Amino acid sequence: MDLEIAHIPLSFYVHIPWCEKKCPYCDFNSHAIKDVMPEEKYVEALLIDAQMEINALRGRTISSIFFGGGTPNIFSALSIGKILTFIKANFSVLPNAEVTVEANPSRYCISSGKQIEESLLELRQVGVNRLSVGVQSFNDNNLLKIGRLHTGGQAVDFVNMSLHIFSNVNLDIMYGLPDQSIGDFHLDIEKALILKPSHLSVYQLTIEENTEFSSFRPNLPKDEVIWSMYQKLIQELKDADYHRYEISAFSLKGSECFHNKNYWLFGDYIGIGAGAHSKLSFEDRIERQNCFRQPDKYMEMVLKRNGSHKLRKNLKVEELPGEFMLNVLRLIDGFDVSLYSSRTGQKFQEIRKLVNLAEEKKLLTIFGNKIKPTMLGLNFLTDLQEIFF
Ligand code: SF4
Repeated sequence: MDLEIAHIPLSFYVHIPWCEKKCPYCDFNSHAIKDVMPEEKYVEALLIDAQMEINALRGRTISSIFFGGGTPNIFSALSIGKILTFIKANFSVLPNAEVTVEANPSRYCISSGKQIEESLLELRQVGVNRLSVGVQSFNDNNLLKIGRLHTGGQAVDFVNMSLHIFSNVNLDIMYGLPDQSIGDFHLDIEKALILKPSHLSVYQLTIEENTEFSSFRPNLPKDEVIWSMYQKLIQELKDADYHRYEISAFSLKGSECFHNKNYWLFGDYIGIGAGAHSKLSFEDRIERQNCFRQPDKYMEMVLKRNGSHKLRKNLKVEELPGEFMLNVLRLIDGFDVSLYSSRTGQKFQEIRKLVNLAEEKKLLTIFGNKIKPTMLGLNFLTDLQEIFF
């Protein structure tokens, strides 16, 4: 393996693992706040976690920072600002780096009790320049059935306020919700388009293991209804000039999410926080790291300051084709063949047969140096990705 690290973009991820309440469909590393949320202690642990990465990342520049969760806006802007200040003071960060915070519509910021407009303004003041809002739906009935705490009206108010304060705002929307009709979903898309955020991420609700919905299965729409919703979505967003650049991501011109696109282009990222993952390239290897998931355990281990809060594993050479394709084939415009060797250190010729097989199955196309999934490949993405494992 011979990787040119200087050419691999680096992103920084910070995980905030708490939510007001656990949603019944959620399999993220998120935990309902019990009595108190140990915000101060957790921030202290995050800074120690980040500090332990300074040597490994020396000489590299961070292009984006992303606070994900959980519900990061459950923390005060003061805490988010403290973490950002530390990252900027101890790592090289691009001056125009994209800095995103995921947020859920709520009347106030839980930790500080501040009204939402004030806390959003404070987030901007501490250096956040992009907000990703977990709307999911604007329909009160559908929101109730997926256990969300906000109403459609609160979501509209929150998004309007966000758009007033930030020029770059993403809305997360879901479809295929319990008892949702095509008409319900159509109205959700219509409302989202009236708000005109710069970015939309639209996902189908799936039932994941170890969630409340896997034990108490809700009544989901039939497959043909979900298929109609999906087709409606693609057409309506296209008509409204949203460019679909990833299987679930749509943006207005110039507003693609750099951070997520870096994941999909098999770039590098360092993750700090409970359950955070990292993928880091070195000249001779690619390493994956996973932090302990339980917040208490994570904090306890980080405070030992010996690196035992995360597990590290080098990717095997035979795992690289699958790992690479799992990400890049999500991109609608695909990738240039040279990206394979620059991101994995392996020769493209070694996977040529598999690429040809996928082409024979009409799941992808090869045009000059460019490889991209076909519409069939996007609709059967798992089948396409599996070819490379
Ligand atoms: S708000 Fe988001 S992260 Fe939190 S439980 Fe619900 S879906 Fe999961």
